Amino acid sequence: MSAATTVTATAAAADAAACTPLEVLGRDVSVPLVTGGEVTYAALDYAASAPALQRVWDDVAAYAPYYGSVHRGAGYLSQLSTDLFENSRRTVEEFLGCRAGDQVVFTRSTTDSLNLLAAALPADCQVFVFETEHHASLLPWRDARVTYLNAPRTPDEAVATLERALAQREPHGPALVCVTGASNVTGEIWPVRELAAAAHAHGARIVLDAAQLAPHHPVDIADLDVDWVAFSGHKLYAPFGAGVLAGRSDWLQEAEPYLAGGGASRAVSRREDGGVDVEWHTTAARHEAGSPNVIGAYSIASACKALTEAGFDRLVAREQELIAKLRAGLAEVSEVRVLSLFSDDAARVGVLSFVVDGWNSSHFAAALSAEYGIGVRDGLFCAHPLVRTLLGSDPQEQGECGAPEAAPGQKSLNAIRVSFGAGT
Ligand code: PLP
Repeated sequence: MSAATTVTATAAAADAAACTPLEVLGRDVSVPLVTGGEVTYAALDYAASAPALQRVWDDVAAYAPYYGSVHRGAGYLSQLSTDLFENSRRTVEEFLGCRAGDQVVFTRSTTDSLNLLAAALPADCQVFVFETEHHASLLPWRDARVTYLNAPRTPDEAVATLERALAQREPHGPALVCVTGASNVTGEIWPVRELAAAAHAHGARIVLDAAQLAPHHPVDIADLDVDWVAFSGHKLYAPFGAGVLAGRSDWLQEAEPYLAGGGASRAVSRREDGGVDVEWHTTAARHEAGSPNVIGAYSIASACKALTEAGFDRLVAREQELIAKLRAGLAEVSEVRVLSLFSDDAARVGVLSFVVDGWNSSHFAAALSAEYGIGVRDGLFCAHPLVRTLLGSDPQEQGECGAPEAAPGQKSLNAIRVSFGAGT
């Protein structure tokens, strides 16, 4: 696989080329940099959006001359596009190891998927969510009764914390646990299978936010025994604009459509009293009103196929090498503190955040980009409670951005994130 453009140097490709020694903080460090085309640049912000695979662009380009609106069109292009759209759904089902009865709904993103599920919760559903979650998993449940769980410091503590909270809930009512598979801040992998077992043992359901896990690891819905999985195409080496919510159909099909409109409705008729009766679909289409993003769905399917063909074993092994190299390099710089919730030996994906003593992280990230051609992320990464816990800072100490300069010995108020993947 190769990167989408010649100007995007990727982590995997970077390592194949000679590492360029750079001076950072007065030391020589090996930073993956390759020359691609005319520009030398290392794009290390895959956790935000990974570069789309060339294979995906090629598949989309091959389809472009033929695309048409899906469902119900008698014309050739419409039928072709309908096949492509529905086959994309099958591909995602296979990619996620869906069970009989599971449905794949195409959404706009992970955020959209989790908001869709939040809108479909049964009345009186109690939701349990760790404060460490990305805001996309932390915030959609605010209309439900939410129990926010404190940050655990080990995977076992995460399970114990959840079990304690579930044991205290009023039994019998519906309950949902929302958990992330891999942290977008620390890269640490959460004990999803154990959390799912705990949820089910207490009669709760569980949704996995796989936005960061799915691009790096196989996510098998049946094997993990989670009820739903959500992920985004643009983090899985497909372009922006499409995501997935996959899993049990009952709550989704008992709920009002997420959006009301054509495509979600099977039959609409005027009533004698002047109103309108609607019969909604009971398939994924119920929550896909309007003309769906066929190219987005097709791109996701194309990326799923590419990752499966590349082989997750190989991708994981490659990524682990890169993570180890990065961690070892940073460990040599005494001013750097890597942010972790769990211990050093925790399983992790290619996402790592750190702070540098005496540096405002935003300035540091800007310097990496301007002076060394290394694109990273700075800030609180849409996981404010987690980053503040890791930094030991207080919400009053800063606004969303614009953290004041941290002097030597002072704690940093935001962080720097490096992320990559072996998919490209
Ligand atoms: N969940 C996690 C763990 C994420 O890292 C992100 C994005 O960074 C999201 C959810 C939201 O993804 P999207 O912006 O594609 O909706």
